[in-house]
Amino acid sequence: MFAGLLGIEGLDRRVIEAILDRAKDFQAVPGQPLKRLDALRGRMMVNLFFEASTRTRTSFEIAAKRLGADTISITAAGSSVSKGESLVDTLNTLGAMHPDVIVMRHAASGAPHFLARHLPVPIVNAGDGTHEHPTQALLDARTILDRTGKLEGLHVAIIGDIAHSRVARSNVHLLSKFGAKIVLCGPASLLPKQLAEMAPGVTLTTDMKQAIKGADVVMMLRVQLERIHEPASPAGEYFAFYGLRLEHLQLARPDAIVMHPGPINRGRELSSEVADSQRSVILNQVENGIAVRMAVLERILSQ
Ligand code: ASP
Repeated sequence: MFAGLLGIEGLDRRVIEAILDRAKDFQAVPGQPLKRLDALRGRMMVNLFFEASTRTRTSFEIAAKRLGADTISITAAGSSVSKGESLVDTLNTLGAMHPDVIVMRHAASGAPHFLARHLPVPIVNAGDGTHEHPTQALLDARTILDRTGKLEGLHVAIIGDIAHSRVARSNVHLLSKFGAKIVLCGPASLLPKQLAEMAPGVTLTTDMKQAIKGADVVMMLRVQLERIHEPASPAGEYFAFYGLRLEHLQLARPDAIVMHPGPINRGRELSSEVADSQRSVILNQVENGIAVRMAVLERILSQ
């Protein structure tokens, strides 16, 4: 039974492997038209986004459409949430419209879990506060596999605002299930010590060069200014200590790849030379977002 997708933490490794394998079938093949399927014809996906999104919201919509489903997108700003409607009332209203799946993003950690308890509809977590972003970790894993062919034993450096990153958490859960060595790195104020206990194979450092040394994958994270309530350091100052530049990559493996979930901030988390280099797989991540989300929706809706 795959009732929905709330997080990676409780997901069986075999289910992850099945999603990643199926996503491969949905990847674009150069020179061939994109596959369009009828598998989900007549099914309705509701995208319910209470936080900003470009990639996740759009790619869920494209994924559902490519499988033949109908979609509607609701954003907090354009909905009755902005007129003071409570989350429960919004959810009951949506429930009465009988969607087949709801994809939800919310600033509160646990909001999709609340929704899942409340409505008899499969829920996909598209990012809840600082907690999890499961489809991001799945598309990241698909992208790493496309380049390296394996996850086992890889050295993955995750650098930036670890404290507030749902992307970091979901990636740690996923990669540790596959025996990767994960180094979490960032300024001490954004690197809570308890994260080392989150999963086997996780170490922490505030030294960016140490984190990158010998890395197969360098995953940069955005500073989550919307979740930080004290004045943050200016972009240039942050970049001086934790911004990825080409010279850092000389410390990594010669075939190391650079990832970022987006949106990227050039001159804060990474330089333009890195973002636009051959090492960057940032746009491959975006592309895989569609394939992975197709695999997730198909798995949920074709039961
Ligand atoms: N797009 C990702 C997320 O929603 C990463 C980010 O916003 O920094 O978590």
